[in-house]
Amino acid sequence: MALDETRFAASCLAELSSVLQKKSIILGCDIDRVASYWDVAPTRALALLMPNNTSEVSEVMRICHKYKQPVVTQGGKTNCVQSANSNPEEIILSTEKLNQIESIDIVNAVASVEAGVVLQTLQKACLEKDMLFPLDLGSRGSCTIGGNVSTNAGGISVLRYGMMRDLVLGLEAVLSDGTIVSSMNQMLKNNSAYDVKQLFIGSEGTLGVVTRAVVKLVPKPLSCQTVLIGVVNFSDVIEILNETRRRLAGILSAFEVMWGPYFQAVTEDGGHSSPISRGHGYYVLLEAEGSDPERDDQLFQKLLEQLYLRGAIEDAVVAQSEADRIGLWQIREDFGVILEDTPVFLYDVSLPISSMEEYVDLTIKAVKEKWSLSEVYALGHIADGNIHFFVRPNAGPATFSLHQTCDALMYKALKKYHGSISAEHGIGIEKKQWLSQSRSETEISVMKALKHTLDPEKLLNPGRVFD
Ligand SMILES: Cc1cc2nc3c(=O)[nH]c(=O)nc-3n(C[C@H](O)[C@H](O)[C@H](O)COP(=O)(O)OP(=O)(O)OC[C@H]3O[C@@H](n4cnc5c(N)ncnc54)[C@H](O)[C@@H]3O)c2cc1C
Repeated sequence: MALDETRFAASCLAELSSVLQKKSIILGCDIDRVASYWDVAPTRALALLMPNNTSEVSEVMRICHKYKQPVVTQGGKTNCVQSANSNPEEIILSTEKLNQIESIDIVNAVASVEAGVVLQTLQKACLEKDMLFPLDLGSRGSCTIGGNVSTNAGGISVLRYGMMRDLVLGLEAVLSDGTIVSSMNQMLKNNSAYDVKQLFIGSEGTLGVVTRAVVKLVPKPLSCQTVLIGVVNFSDVIEILNETRRRLAGILSAFEVMWGPYFQAVTEDGGHSSPISRGHGYYVLLEAEGSDPERDDQLFQKLLEQLYLRGAIEDAVVAQSEADRIGLWQIREDFGVILEDTPVFLYDVSLPISSMEEYVDLTIKAVKEKWSLSEVYALGHIADGNIHFFVRPNAGPATFSLHQTCDALMYKALKKYHGSISAEHGIGIEKKQWLSQSRSETEISVMKALKHTLDPEKLLNPGRVFD
C-alpha cells in the first residue's frame, strides 16, 4: 500500500473505532482465522469488524463509504465460490455478533432473526416449539441465515420447500452508503409494488449487507422415514424417483443420489461404515416426513414393496432409529475424505434430469482423456436437477490454469443441455468468467445497472459475481 493509502486507511480505521466497541475490531495483523471452510490459508484483510446491531452496521458502511473503503461481508464462510474470501485491502464485516433469534411466532408461522444466526441454531430453536425451519444443508452447523439469504441457498429439502428465496418473507439490509432498507414484511401476500427484498437474495452481498430476516416456518413433522437404496442403472434411479413422487406426494422431503465412485470413496476403510454392499452403480437416499405416522409408514412400505417387485431396487436399508438415520446422512454429507488429497475442484451444475446420465458419462470421459489418473465423484440433489462433482485431476499442484482447464471440460459439455454452471452455490470469484454461459448479455447488463444504482463506488464485495 502507498503511504497516502496507508494514511487514508488509518483515518478510516480511527473513525470506525469511534463507533464500534474496541472488542468489535481486530486489526489485520491480529486476525488469526482461516480464509474459509475450504481454504485453510490465513485471512488477509485490513481489519475485521463485528458490529453488534443494524445501526452499527449502518455506521460502518457510512464511514467506509466516506473513505471509499471496500468491504466484504462474512457469515459462516462456507460458500463454495470464494465470495467471502477477503484480500489485504478489504475490511471484513462479520455478522457473528448479529446472532439473536428475535421471535418464533407459532400462530403466524414466522421467525424473525438476525443475519448472523447459524442455520442449525434456528432449526433447533424452532423444533423446540414444534415448528420446522425447512432449509437444510450439510453446512448447517456453520452457515448463517444472512449467508443463506445472500447465496439463495438450496440444500436437501428444496424439492419440498423450495430454495431460501421461497422461505424469506421480509428482510432488512444496509446499503453501501449506510442507508437502512427495512422490509421486515411478515405476510405471505404483499403485492405493494416492487418487492425490494428480492434484490438482496442471491446477490452474494454485492448490493447490501443483510442484517435481519423474517422467514417462513411449517409445523414440525410427526413421522420420518429414511431409506438408502442401491441400484444398478440410472434408469432405476429415474423409476424410483417417478414412483416416489407419485406415492409419497406431499411427504417426500429428500431425494439424493450418489454415484458409485462417490459412495465407495467415502465408505473406504476408516471412512463411514456402509450398511449395504459398496458395489452398486448408484445409491439413492430418500426421506419422507409427514404428519400421520401410521399412514406415512404404510405408504413408505408400499412404495418399497412396489419398487422391489419391479426390480428397481437391488438392495436397501431402512433407518430403524435416529442414529441409523444420521449414519445414512453422514455418507451423503460428510465428504471430508475426498478433500484430503488436493487439488480437488468442486462443481455444482443443473440440467434436465433426463440428460444427467449422459452428461456425467461425457464429463468423466472428457476428464479421463485429459488426465488419465484423474478421479471424478458425482452426487447431488437429483430431484432438483442438481449435480455436484468433485474432480481430482491428479496432475500436479493446484494452479489457476489447471483449474481453468478443468472448468472448461466440465462446462463445455453442459452447453448442449442448456444447463446452469451454478445451481445453488452462486458465482463469487471462482465462476465469474463463466457467468455468460448461463446468463445473457442483457441479463448481465441489468445486473450491472442494479449494482451501479445501489453501490456506484463498488464498495460491497468488489470483484465478486462480475467486475
Ligand atoms: C459441507 C457443505 C455443504 C454445503 N451444502 C450446500 C447445499 O446443499 N446447498 C447450498 O446451496 N449450499 C451448500 N453449501 C454452501 C454454503 O454453505 C452456502 O452457500 C451457505 O448459504 C453460505 O452461508 P455462509 O453463512 O457460510 O455465507 P458466507 O460463505 O460467509 O458468504 C456467502 C456469500 O454471502 C455474503 N454474505 C454472507 N452474509 C451476508 C450478509 N449478512 N449480508 C450480505 N451478504 C452476506 C458473503 O459476502 C458471500 O458473498 C455447502 C457448504 C459446505 C461447506
